[in-house]
Amino acid sequence: MRPQPLPSPELIASWPAFTPERPLRILLSGCLAGMSVGYDGSSYGSHPQIGRLVGRDNVAAVSFCPENFSFGTPRALCDIHGGDGHDVLAGRARVRTASGEDWTEGMIAGARAMVAQARASAVDLAILMDISGACGSQVIYRGARAQGVYQAARGVAAAALVEAGFPVMCQRDLRTLDLILCKLDPAREARGERIDHHESDWYRSYFAAS
Ligand code: SF4
Repeated sequence: MRPQPLPSPELIASWPAFTPERPLRILLSGCLAGMSVGYDGSSYGSHPQIGRLVGRDNVAAVSFCPENFSFGTPRALCDIHGGDGHDVLAGRARVRTASGEDWTEGMIAGARAMVAQARASAVDLAILMDISGACGSQVIYRGARAQGVYQAARGVAAAALVEAGFPVMCQRDLRTLDLILCKLDPAREARGERIDHHESDWYRSYFAAS
């Protein structure tokens, strides 16, 4: 089990005081930013907590969809077979659609393009949509999603961002998100009851049993 490349409390504390002139620079999964780039042409619902974050004047967000980059929208669903995103990048695992088409090269190209966007925008961190075979940073499917088996692992784009040195978190990492909001607004009181995804009952029980 290898995820949790979350920006640590120490890293967040070490960031400068963010201002409109020097905002916190975030790379978002396109769908989290509200772009209609999901496989079905949706944005997978609304994401108000992300909207509140990027609506601040001391935050600057860019968004990118690695699957839309390579395959367009709408498109087939795809998942990683034989490993995780790091394995795909290293040539040890493949990405296939539900019908068996091999999308490995396109997924790697999309991941590389997302890293290029992160570098060009000098982002401080990436917030990515979990579960996706591209953007998942805590949980992805193990093989075809029709089988409904999860693994605690990263998708291809999330792995490429981590390997490039960028802190990565998902939209469900609420403790870390709260720490970031407190950094952005020092008058805010931390919500001590919030937890990151890997601390949830579901995550702990599912992966303890698997
Ligand atoms: S590849 Fe990433 S950005 Fe694109 S729809 Fe899937 S989760 Fe969202």
